[in-house]
Amino acid sequence: MMSNMATEDPYVTPVKYVKMVGPRRAEQLARLKLFTIHDLLYHFPREYVDRSQLVSPFDRHSGDMVTVIGRVLSCQENRSRKNLIITKAALECARGIFYAVWFNRFHVKKTLEPGTSLYISGKLNNGFGHLEVHVQDYEIITGEGDSIHAGRIVPVYPATSGVTQRMLRTFVYAALEQWRQSYREFLPRRVLDKEGLMALPDALQQVHFPDSHALAEQARRRFVFEELFLFQLQLALLRHNITRVKKLHGYGRVNKLMQKYMANLSFMLTAAQSRVVDEITVDMESPHPMNRLLQGDVGSGKTVVAVLTLLKAVESGLQGALMAPTEVLAEQHYLSLDRSLSSLGVRVALLNGGLPVKERRALLEQIANGEVSIIVGTQALLQEDVIFKSLAVVVIDEQHRFGVRQRGILQKKGVYPDLLIMTATPIPRTLSMTVYGDLDVSVIDALPPGRQPVRTYYVVPEELSKVFQFVARHVSEGRQAYVVCPLVEESEKLDLQAAEDLFQQLVKGELRMCRVALLHGRMKRADKELVMEQFRAGLVDVLVSTTVIEVGIDVPNAGVMVIVDADRFGLAQLHQLRGRVGRGGDQAHCILSARLRSREAAERIKAMKTSQDGFYLAEKDLQIRGPGDMAGVRQSGMPEFRLANLLKDRDLLGAARRQAMVLISDDPELRNGEYHLLRLVLERLIKEGSSYYHIG
Ligand code: ADP
Ligand code: MG
Repeated sequence: MMSNMATEDPYVTPVKYVKMVGPRRAEQLARLKLFTIHDLLYHFPREYVDRSQLVSPFDRHSGDMVTVIGRVLSCQENRSRKNLIITKAALECARGIFYAVWFNRFHVKKTLEPGTSLYISGKLNNGFGHLEVHVQDYEIITGEGDSIHAGRIVPVYPATSGVTQRMLRTFVYAALEQWRQSYREFLPRRVLDKEGLMALPDALQQVHFPDSHALAEQARRRFVFEELFLFQLQLALLRHNITRVKKLHGYGRVNKLMQKYMANLSFMLTAAQSRVVDEITVDMESPHPMNRLLQGDVGSGKTVVAVLTLLKAVESGLQGALMAPTEVLAEQHYLSLDRSLSSLGVRVALLNGGLPVKERRALLEQIANGEVSIIVGTQALLQEDVIFKSLAVVVIDEQHRFGVRQRGILQKKGVYPDLLIMTATPIPRTLSMTVYGDLDVSVIDALPPGRQPVRTYYVVPEELSKVFQFVARHVSEGRQAYVVCPLVEESEKLDLQAAEDLFQQLVKGELRMCRVALLHGRMKRADKELVMEQFRAGLVDVLVSTTVIEVGIDVPNAGVMVIVDADRFGLAQLHQLRGRVGRGGDQAHCILSARLRSREAAERIKAMKTSQDGFYLAEKDLQIRGPGDMAGVRQSGMPEFRLANLLKDRDLLGAARRQAMVLISDDPELRNGEYHLLRLVLERLIKEGSSYYHIG
């Protein structure tokens, strides 16, 4: 039965067909999003432990790193004076008794029943007359299969509760035996040779069960390249297609509405804004669709540019859409557009998720028959039933939250509409070309005149009380403030609790004389809207919030930003948050409260104190961050990859980009038979929409 399975396509064969998996375990694997054989084989190890040399602890010296086997005799848990949890197990091996020690690993003891056998890796310590291993990694030995789990360099996978390392290892091992040979190399021969990459079936074997660390690294390199190359190919294809297409819509050259709108503004456009508007106008008047990225630091005035872009469409009797990543931001855009455009006779509508059915239907009708000219919304704009009469231009705000796929869907709603993508999250210049390879780039490189740099301070948490007194004084002068508490995915509940606690504490304490409101992502839409409305209207003085306010919010009267646990934010995010204040002419303040537990945190705070320049900070962020900091990468707004790390793998990214461009300019349709498999892989990726570029 198994033998003919091996001929089936690993990309579609369900993982339950792997030996020993079956339906029940397949369900557990589904929690890791492993559905097919291919998913399982592309579930790469996050690291390896070297169990190729099992030793006896009695043969080694204090300070050595060892991997040993032992059987638990007893185990106890103690609390040290410094409140550290110390778990200590007495273990037996062929040569005698030794000890294994864990620090602050709360759940270890439960798993260490007497009689249990373990692999243990860690540092040997020969102190106080007995032999200890300070455990870095351990694994409970169950049943058979020790040629898989020991005597070799062993993979360690991203796992989840109920799916152990041993299970994963066993399944991957079996899947490799059955399916490895059904993988055929799809990267072009020339590319493999040029970049010195390991070929596919071997790379699969070596990435999971490497014969040496060097081979593991070579295998990883191949998959990183593969991932980046496929990504770059998609960008190159997008670009190739778009530059050949001719638009069906066109614009008049009279820009009366735009001029009226500008005349109504209380300020003049900066030179940088004007230049960008010119670039956009040229693009829009060209026969090919615009495909432009607008980078501009926080507060540089991108919204005005967006409005002018949309007005250019309205001017010619066409429609424009403005898409924002959060409902709070979409609503803000809607309100400000509606305010400034209704007097010009331009109809603006807001399409958010969760509209009552009837209202939504009425609105869709108006969009379809062209009664509304500008439609603002979140991703709700992407839903299938949203049909435009004449969508000519699409502006996407805070692009880093949207993926290539979202871009594509929205574009298809018009007949190749013009596309303007705006971002404040500065991808460092050194990376932007590779990440946004399919776009033209405009930059607003100067802030509006009269802005004073935001004064930035660092305090330890003990000083927060004084900080909040400062906030209260600021409020008494008629100004407003933000207090931001972090929300980290792993324990949203706990974080929410922390925000609520802080809110309660402030209301009763330092800010009892102020009108304080709480805003977080779990609140109902209507409640969120109400809070924001009150804050904008000045009916709320202090907004205590989780990071839902991170992007885009514009309330110029807010002059103080307090960030609690600032060490938990990435540099790009801190910069975004600080950008919420200092939007008027007055001196603004940003206070970062944190306990600096790591060098990185200290350097981030220092960078925030020394610079207000988003591009500089983005570069700095790259330098400070250690490789492998995926959470940080996500916050920085760079695309996420399964395996590749844009910080560590910059060189490969460059190589992948060059190879992709060469290939697409040689053979844009990938018609050559040599590229047959590659084309299939790409088509599948595009169809699944598993473009590596995720939504944030
Ligand atoms: P961002 O680029 O971060 O989206 P916004 O578009 O929200 O920035 O603009 C920030 C603030 O600066 C807004 O209050 C806006 O009205 C104001 N602004 C924009 N352009 C100018 C300008 N040329 N002169 C003065 N203020 C401006
Ligand atoms: Mg903005």
